[in-house]
Amino acid sequence: MTDPDELTQFGAEFSAWLAANRPAPPSFKLPQTFLEVESADQMAYHRDWQRKVYDAGYLGFDVPEAYGGRGIEPEKKRVVEAALAQARAPFFVNFLALTWVAPTILTFGTEAQKSRLLAPLLRGDEIWCQGFSEPNAGSDLASLRTRAVKTAEGWEISGHKVWTTLAHFAKWMILLARTDPDANKYAGLSYFLFPMDAPGVSVQPLIKMTGEGGFNQVLFDRSPMPRDCLLGEEGQGWNIALTTLMFERGAADSSSRERSSALLEQLKRLVSLAQRTQRNGRPIASDPVFRDRLATLWIEAAAIGFSGTRSGVSDLVKERPLALPLMNKLVASEWNQRVAELACEMLGPDAALSAEDARAPDRGEWPRAFMNSFGMTIGGGTSEILRNIIGERVLGLPKSK
Ligand SMILES: Cc1cc2nc3c(=O)[nH]c(=O)nc-3n(C[C@H](O)[C@H](O)[C@H](O)COP(=O)(O)OP(=O)(O)OC[C@H]3O[C@@H](n4cnc5c(N)ncnc54)[C@H](O)[C@@H]3O)c2cc1C
Repeated sequence: MTDPDELTQFGAEFSAWLAANRPAPPSFKLPQTFLEVESADQMAYHRDWQRKVYDAGYLGFDVPEAYGGRGIEPEKKRVVEAALAQARAPFFVNFLALTWVAPTILTFGTEAQKSRLLAPLLRGDEIWCQGFSEPNAGSDLASLRTRAVKTAEGWEISGHKVWTTLAHFAKWMILLARTDPDANKYAGLSYFLFPMDAPGVSVQPLIKMTGEGGFNQVLFDRSPMPRDCLLGEEGQGWNIALTTLMFERGAADSSSRERSSALLEQLKRLVSLAQRTQRNGRPIASDPVFRDRLATLWIEAAAIGFSGTRSGVSDLVKERPLALPLMNKLVASEWNQRVAELACEMLGPDAALSAEDARAPDRGEWPRAFMNSFGMTIGGGTSEILRNIIGERVLGLPKSK
C-alpha cells in the first residue's frame, strides 16, 4: 500500500508530466479504440505514445520490476488511469497485451517466458493479438478446430482464426489450438505463445461497417513453432483461456472505478452536443424528453462507477467475486451503445454524414462510435452469453441448455 501523501505527490507529478507530454493531434484520422487501428501511421502514433509513457516510468504497475514493470502498485495504476481518462489522452495500442496477455503470462509463464516477453510488451515494441475465435467457434469457443501437431522441434499449426484484432501488426499471438483430437473438447486444447513471423501464416484484413479495418482472419498452413511456445501444460489450454477471458472481461480489474470517469467524460460530450444542436428552433438540451434520457444515462454512469467501487472491496464480493465485474462489462458496453445512439438521434439526418464530410458535426464522431459500439457488446463474450453466465452462476437459474 502506497503512503497517501506519496500517492498525492505522484498524482501531481503525473498530471504535470501529462500536460507537458501529451501528443498533439496528427493530420490523419485517429482510430476510436485499439480495435480500429488500421494504418501504419495510426499504429506509429499510438505506439510512440505508449513508449513515451512507459519510458517515463508511468506504465507497468502490475508487473514486477524483474520483468521490466514498475513493481506491483495498483494505487499508482489507478491514479494514472484516472488522469489519462480525464485528459482524453490517446489509448495504449498494445491494450490487449497489457490487459489480458501480460497477467496470463505472469500467472502461467515460465521464468524464461516472463523475462523474454513482458518488457517489450509493456513498451509496445512487440504487439500482441489473440487467436481464439474461429468460424463456427466464437461463443462455443471450445469447439475450435485449429490443430497443433507435435514435431521433433516443437509444433506445427494448421487452421483458421477469425476476428483477430491487430494481427496485421502483431509479433505474437496468444493461440488456442487442439493438441488431442481424441480427448473431450475441453481437455484436448493447449495454449501457445505463437510467433506471427513463422512460415505459412497468412493475415487477411476484414473491413467493418465503418469502412475501417483493424481485425483480420489468419490462416496457418503447417506453421512451425518451437517447444517453448507452449504456455502451461499440454491439455491445460481451456483453463488458461478462461483466465485470459476473465481478464478480458475486466473481471480481475480493480480499476473499473476509474473507467467510470471515462464514461462521464463521454456523457459530458453528449450534453455539449445537446446544447449545440437545434430542434424546432431550440437547443435539444431544453426538450424534456431528451433531458430525461440524458439524466437516465447520467444516473446509470454513476451506478456503474459505484459498482466499480464495490467490486474493489473484497468483503463485499467474496461470495461471488466475478459477478460485479461481469455485470459491469455487460452494462457499460450497452450504455456506450445507447449514448452513441442517442447522439445519432439528436443529429437526425446529419448522422448520415461520414467522418470525411466537412459538414459532419463533431467530425463524424457519433455515427462512427455507434457503429463501433457493436464490437464492444460482442468481443470478450456477447451480451447474450454474459446474461446466461450471470443468470446461471450468479442468480442460480437453470442452465440454458
Ligand atoms: C470488434 C471485435 C473484435 C474481436 N477481436 C477478437 C480477437 O482479437 N481475437 C479473437 O479471438 N476474437 C475476437 N473477436 C471475436 C469475438 O470473441 C466473437 O465474435 C464472439 O465470441 C462471438 O462469437 P461469434 O462471432 O462466433 O458469434 P456466435 O457465437 O455465432 O453468436 C451469434 C449470436 O448468437 C448468440 N448466441 C450464441 N450462443 C448463444 C447461447 N448459448 N445463448 C444465447 N445466445 C447465444 C450470440 O450472443 C450472438 O448474438 C472479436 C469480435 C469483435 C466484434
